[in-house]
Amino acid sequence: MTQFDYDLFVIGGGSGGVRSARLAAAMGKRVAIAEEYRFGGTCVIRGCVPKKLFVYASQFHEHFEDARGYGWTVGDTSFSWKALIEAKDREIARLEGLYRKGLENAGAEILETRAELVGPHNIRLVKSGKVVTAERIVIAVGGSANPHASLPGYELCITSNDAFHLEELPRSIVIAGGGYIAVEFANIFHGLGVDTTLIYRGKEILSRFDQDMRHGLHEAMEAKGIRILCEDIITKVSRTAAGGLLAETKNNGHLSTDQVMLALGRDPNTAGLGLEAAGVAVNDRGAVIVDEYSRTNVPNIYALGDVTDRVQLTPVAIHEAMCFIETEYKNNPTAPDHDLIATAVFSQPEIGTVGLSEEDAAKRFEEIEVYRAQFRPMKATLSGRQEKMIMKLIVNAADRKVVGAHILGHDAGEMAQLLGVSLKAGVTKDDFDRTMAVHPTAAEELVTMYSPTYRVRNGERV
Ligand code: FAD
Repeated sequence: MTQFDYDLFVIGGGSGGVRSARLAAAMGKRVAIAEEYRFGGTCVIRGCVPKKLFVYASQFHEHFEDARGYGWTVGDTSFSWKALIEAKDREIARLEGLYRKGLENAGAEILETRAELVGPHNIRLVKSGKVVTAERIVIAVGGSANPHASLPGYELCITSNDAFHLEELPRSIVIAGGGYIAVEFANIFHGLGVDTTLIYRGKEILSRFDQDMRHGLHEAMEAKGIRILCEDIITKVSRTAAGGLLAETKNNGHLSTDQVMLALGRDPNTAGLGLEAAGVAVNDRGAVIVDEYSRTNVPNIYALGDVTDRVQLTPVAIHEAMCFIETEYKNNPTAPDHDLIATAVFSQPEIGTVGLSEEDAAKRFEEIEVYRAQFRPMKATLSGRQEKMIMKLIVNAADRKVVGAHILGHDAGEMAQLLGVSLKAGVTKDDFDRTMAVHPTAAEELVTMYSPTYRVRNGERV
């Protein structure tokens, strides 16, 4: 018997925590996992999953319109926000149950409580006050929306958490932020018929994405009727006599609206976690500092997922958890691989992307070839919808390796997953060229762009 109550104690029942606990318990380790809210964490309860369900809900409006061009007559339609929320909540409860079941079946002890560190091997269960000990500890507490407390009137605003439970669908909303969460919610609300304004302090939405994707999406969103105010910020929010909100902006006057949503980044959930007591170091943003194996400065304490502020995505948190298991319990030191992570923005149209943007590739390589196609997808012909798809491959001219692939358009996220496999395997442009097209699809453009649209040499387009 060891001197500890548990071999492994996991704090946080989200993507990374559940995977670590489940795999360790399945190996026969004595594992406990503490969750202060609901198992499944941000992704399942108030992130990726409910968001994607909302995305689907918001697309029907366009489907009904498009149907006409294909000979269908769609009768009167109406939308019930309440019915959507109820259906979404049922699905989330089902998934939460699956997460709990997975943990139970593996033999992990489920603790429904907040947990805080009181020493390098000691954890206090806040609900009971009991202190337990563990040989190893995984911190997987995730992050939460930055409340932007310095904004006068911030307490009148909502975050993505609240957006999943609004009593009523607002008639209008102003969303502050230019990251993927802000952009996705702008499209969701607009699709559900809400008068939507996006306000972002940067020059263009979605910094770090490829310029063509950013501009292309910006144009498409504006064409749909979403108002986008770049290089501007909200300076104050106040309640009007009529019960609505007034958002004062720096450059665009006063915006009168039903709701203001702040999507201004996410902070690691480390406040009050007892990291000082355990001697765990954090950076100036409060994120736990880890080495390449997700180990903190305290050798028996690991941290993974959003709390480490590396790449804030569910599959990354899960991958880091699996690497932790390999390293600690399978005698196979494995560092998480953060290179070439395929990802999507579930905007409308979607962005699917993997690898370097044109801008980053041009900085890294002496010469790159850019293959770019912009076209009207086939479905838009009969529907009459004015929309364009953009596909782009970035190739390092020196060795012909495809170093970036970017798509704007329907199902771009699905395509990015497969491109991710190819790029990870080190695919060259010649491999794309000798791959037969699947016809008729939009994706076939990826293998039929034979000559470069342009080259970029030493940072200059030639
Ligand atoms: P989390 O999933 O956040 O889990 C942490 C858990 O710890 C939470 O359940 C929390 O309640 C609990 N906790 C915190 N402190 C304590 C404590 N002291 N004691 C006990 N429990 C505690 N990622 C994607 O890949 N694709 C997407 O489409 C996507 N969409 C998103 C949309 C939104 C609106 C948001 C907010 C996020 C989205 N993400 C998406 C990001 C994704 O949700 C996170 O990267 C992922 O959930 C991180 O997993 P994690 O295990 O690090 O933390």
